Amino acid sequence: MQPPQQIDHLGLAVRSLEEASQLYRDVLGLTCQGTEEVPDQKVRVVFFEMGEVRIELLEPTAADSPIARFLETRGPGLHHVAYRVADLPATLAALRSGGVRLIDEEPRDGAHGMKIAFAHPKSTGGVLTEFCQAGE
Ligand code: ZN
Repeated sequence: MQPPQQIDHLGLAVRSLEEASQLYRDVLGLTCQGTEEVPDQKVRVVFFEMGEVRIELLEPTAADSPIARFLETRGPGLHHVAYRVADLPATLAALRSGGVRLIDEEPRDGAHGMKIAFAHPKSTGGVLTEFCQAGE
């Protein structure tokens, strides 16, 4: 397995995409890649480009969304770190054989056609960690 290539994005949990976007778009002047709903995770997300890295804002679309539960218990803030990998199935196999607990045993669909999978923060030093591979 090849090591992860770079940090792809930081995921921030927010109560309102529109409100939170003001800092990144209006104040900092970052380019927005557009808003997208990910029904699977019951979130709406928006990405801002910052060089090679992106900032992902996540807003819950339902009360039982994982992001809604996060906001309830922890409040808005850093939700996850995402590492870009070349071959997600190979990375998941390596994590599994390294004894890392996975939230997603198989790649699933994320925003922007990415394939994504999360590792459990209990196995990654308390940081919810996403591994993502660009879509074909
Ligand atoms: Zn993410």
